[in-house]
Order: sequence, then structure tokens, then C-alpha cells
Amino acid sequence: MKIKRYGIMGGTFDPIHFGHLVAAEEARAVLGLEYVFFVPSGRPPHKKERPITKAEHRYLMTVLATATNPSFKVSRVDITRPGYSYTVDTISAFREMLGPDCELYFITGADAILQILSWKDVDRLFASCYLIAATRPGYDLSQLRASFGASWQRYSDKIKTLEVPALAISSSEIRRRVAAGEPIRYLLPESVVQYIYKHGLYGAHRQVKGCI
Ligand code: NAP
Repeated sequence: MKIKRYGIMGGTFDPIHFGHLVAAEEARAVLGLEYVFFVPSGRPPHKKERPITKAEHRYLMTVLATATNPSFKVSRVDITRPGYSYTVDTISAFREMLGPDCELYFITGADAILQILSWKDVDRLFASCYLIAATRPGYDLSQLRASFGASWQRYSDKIKTLEVPALAISSSEIRRRVAAGEPIRYLLPESVVQYIYKHGLYGAHRQVKGCI
């Protein structure tokens, strides 16, 4: 019997954009995933000092962005779990939900994976899932390998990279553009653009430069 595979797309999604959606769709096609579960972080462990948008806004934008793809689902597991959103706990929750007889692929940005050796229970994490590092165009893969140092041999079988040209889009650039009154259309789904302006996120003003 063919082993079922599931993707778990972890990120802050502040806001979600087409780069994330293309990365998830590409992973689904390349790996033959049954579903990709988008999991907006509740309290990202490494952003203790930096303010992030309320989880409920990030969750609702993720729901809007993924609504038309039947292979995409959104999970509240990191938002409802108290404390910091450690990935090892996220994977445990999915393992419990989906059972032991499936493969789990945690998909996130390659820059996030650079820090993975400092994540909670990293051995248990690697024992329970594969890690998919989505890279932006021109990303230097040697830095990923270098970040593991002597541990590379131990974990390299569980890490795969996925180049995603659409990841030239970034959440930080979208936030900057909104605050500066620059257009963001076509960088993210229209429903999310409207949500950002309706709720005044990222210092949004109704007036976008160059629009009448
Ligand atoms: P981040 O530091 O905000 O992002 C790092 C880079 O990866 C950014 O360039 C970001 O681009 C990109 N990125 C983030 N998520 C992505 C995705 N799903 N697909 C493609 N690119 C992505 O990282 P983060 O979003 O806070 O954390 C990523 C995931 O790692 C989350 O699920 C988080 O909970 C987990 N994490 C766990 C631990 C731990 O267990 N100790 C520690 C850190 C992170 P954009 O800004 O455009 O998204």
C-alpha cells in the first residue's frame, strides 16, 4: 500500500502571499502530498522582541488565500496551543491526528531552517518528519549546509530544498509597501489585499499612490 504523505506549511504569514502559495503547490506536486496544511504560528519562538500582527488576522488572511484550492487546509493548532509555537509540538499534534503510518513534510523558508539546530528537541523533530526548505531565486545553498556544520551528515537525508521563483515576493516587503502607500496588488490574493485595507493592517491607508 502506498504511504500517504502530508505537507505542513509553517510560517508567520504576516501576510501570506503568492510566494507561499506557489511553494506549497510546488511541494504538493513534487512530493505527491495528499494535502498541505497551512499552520500560522501563534507565538513564533524567535520573534520574542518583534511585534507581529494578531494571530486571528494572520489566520483569517491564510483562510482567504487558500480557500479555492481543495488540496490546501488551514490549521489553528499553533494558534490555540498556549506558549511559543515550537515546530516539534506542531508535528506531534499532526502525528496524533493523522496516525503513525504516513510521512510528514514540514515546509518553510530556507532562512528559517538555517537556525534549526537551535530549535526545541531537534533530534525528535528530525525523527518525526522531513524538512522542506523553500528557497528564493539565487539563494546560496552552501549556507544551509554550512549552518549544520558537523551535524550535516546526521540530518541531510531528512532535508530537501525546493527553489520557488515566486518567493522573490516577501512579507516584509509587502508590509513596507503598505506602510509607504505603495501598491501591493498581484503580490498576494486580492481577497487578502482587501482584508489588509479593511482592517488597516501594516499602517494601511485607503489612498494608494498613483490611484485616483
Ligand atoms: P521567518 O524568520 O519569519 O522567515 C524566514 C524566511 O523564510 C523569510 O524569508 C520568510 O519569508 C520565509 N518563509 C517563512 N515561512 C515560509 C514558508 N512557509 N514558505 C516559504 N517561505 C517562508 O520564519 P517564521 O515564519 O517565523 O518561521 C517559519 C516556521 O518555522 C514557523 O512555522 C515557525 O513556527 C517555525 N520555527 C520554529 C522554531 C522552533 O521550533 N524553535 C523556531 C523558529 C521558527 P516571508 O517573510 O515572506 O514569509
